[in-house]
Amino acid sequence: MRKVFHFDSPRERYRCDAAVVWCYDHRFELALRKLLKRSGIEHADPIRVAGGAKCLASPDQESERQFVLEQIRKSIRLHGTDRVVLMVHSDCGAYGGLEAFGGDAQAEARHHVAELRRAAECLRQSVPEVSVVSYFVDFEGVWTPAPEPAPS
Ligand SMILES: [Zn+2]
Repeated sequence: MRKVFHFDSPRERYRCDAAVVWCYDHRFELALRKLLKRSGIEHADPIRVAGGAKCLASPDQESERQFVLEQIRKSIRLHGTDRVVLMVHSDCGAYGGLEAFGGDAQAEARHHVAELRRAAECLRQSVPEVSVVSYFVDFEGVWTPAPEPAPS
């Protein structure tokens, strides 16, 4: 083989601070990355799929959900991951963009909060050993849903 680039990568194995299920839409990369850093997540195992947590909440194919769950399980096995960050974002092509909500950003946000709850519930049932943090990212920042009311 011919070396095309020289770079010294770290050889030490790491313990993963969180597996992050996020959409690969590049517009929201920096915001989430900065938030993760601020949250003390230095070593993340990124699981980047179109729609992010949509793959757990409302996948187009059941196989997408199984694929993402298996990636999370592998992250746990390989890197001792005990936390999963779920992400969905505004104007996501996998949901048909903001147009799918008639341009109503609040309706979109409500929908995506419900998606995050579904995704977290799926994860709690399938991979109960991890804690789950959920984020909705829009053009103004990163939001986390209010805690669900306790069942009465
Ligand atoms: Zn997206």
